Amino acid sequence: AAKTRVGGDATAFAGYEASSAERAAYTSPEGGDVHVVILGHVDAGKSTLSGRLMYALKAVDDRAMHKNVRDSKASGKSSFAWAWVMDCRPEERERGVTIDVSMKRCVLDGHRQLVVLDAPGHKDFVPNAISGASQADAGVLVIDGAMGGFENGFAATPGHTGQTREHARLARALGLHSLIVVINKMDCVEYGEERFRFVVDALQNFLIDDVGFSQEQLTFVPVSGIEGTNISPDDAAALPDALASWYRGPTLVDALRAVKIPSRGAPKPLRMPIADIITEVRSLGGAACGGKIEAGSLMKGQKLLVMPANVSATVKCVEVDGIAVDFAPIGTSVDVGLSDVDSRHLEVGSVLCHASHPITPTDEIEVRVLTTDMLRVPLLKGSRVVLHSHMLACDATIEELVAQVDTVTGDVVKASPRCITREQSAILRIRTSRNICVEPVEISPTLSRVTLRMNGKTMALGVVTAIWRS
Ligand code: GDP
Repeated sequence: AAKTRVGGDATAFAGYEASSAERAAYTSPEGGDVHVVILGHVDAGKSTLSGRLMYALKAVDDRAMHKNVRDSKASGKSSFAWAWVMDCRPEERERGVTIDVSMKRCVLDGHRQLVVLDAPGHKDFVPNAISGASQADAGVLVIDGAMGGFENGFAATPGHTGQTREHARLARALGLHSLIVVINKMDCVEYGEERFRFVVDALQNFLIDDVGFSQEQLTFVPVSGIEGTNISPDDAAALPDALASWYRGPTLVDALRAVKIPSRGAPKPLRMPIADIITEVRSLGGAACGGKIEAGSLMKGQKLLVMPANVSATVKCVEVDGIAVDFAPIGTSVDVGLSDVDSRHLEVGSVLCHASHPITPTDEIEVRVLTTDMLRVPLLKGSRVVLHSHMLACDATIEELVAQVDTVTGDVVKASPRCITREQSAILRIRTSRNICVEPVEISPTLSRVTLRMNGKTMALGVVTAIWRS
């Protein structure tokens, strides 16, 4: 049967009538919860900073923190006390996530949550950073500001490329709308303005000219994760004089509160990719899952479709951080209890959809990707990869190398190239081994994000530009 190519067609949901609550959520200037992914070179201080952030936002109490300090001293690694905040919070729930991303939630302000996505490990950070990024609205790129630290992470000599450059490109290729660049370890350079300016200038040129971010998308914040400097406005009085004498900008928490969720356009029907299957939470019942509402909203009592299985279900209850709600809008991380459905049909990577406007399952997609420096063998027609998108993973084959394109402008450099090598941008047509649920980037900034992996290494990442419907 002939297939139809579906791109970012604005008329895709022409018949969809949003509820007034949904419309309000779509036009709210605050835009709901803020999901960020922490990126940066190994040892830049990502874990330490995440721990500090959770503490500043009261997600870790003093007692737990004292225990961390004591435990880490006892094991002779006192500098890791903060990093341990991230790693030692017991998971209350059976998590069925296939990809190793950890997720911490806390209250950002009033009624908004901050959801921090990162990887528990240290060295093998890149692939996990990327899967974490699939839900993110913004990136936090952590830079080691110490003498030599920045230079090492930013190096671009053959055989040693610092992860700073790669992570920045990944953030852009995945379509993250803003980047908070944290210049960390400012305690090592006496909080000097000159050093901060030097690092910011170098990064700014790179991020704008080579990566394609715009000035408005970037915020630079000097901090010390270890000393807890310039993390939260609540301890502004404690800023060291050396920093207070010249710095007038935001703290890290201010910068996070100011993250602009990109305009969402017209309200669209429900899409909630299942990130995990929840068992043993009595209030949710026997068929329950967690995830982030990427479009539309969820309401208690609502009928929906689980795709691609195409089975119906009824929303029994919705919980936000363990608290039952009747309605949850776009952008919220929720746990959902379902009834009238066999729990066997709930799978990580499936998508909960509006009953009369479900997602179109597809086994053929067009993607625009950037290859990473881990691509050792060129991509060819017929290359086999594992495709990851939101929480799904699926075997796939590259059917066609459509074009090589310019990384910054997206203009075609070469049509139908014979191969694509590392650190190039390309448009590819890919066939998946089964039906998957993704959407073109024009329709969904998050459900379009994909990564291609081979032998457990991330070779390319980017966004879906079109799908084929049979
Ligand atoms: P990650 O690999 O990016 O997660 O980095 P870690 O958080 O594990 O930190 C790497 C090393 O840098 C550890 O020894 C930390 O104690 C140290 N470190 C982290 N933040 C700071 C900081 O603000 N100042 C100083 N002087 N050291 C820091």
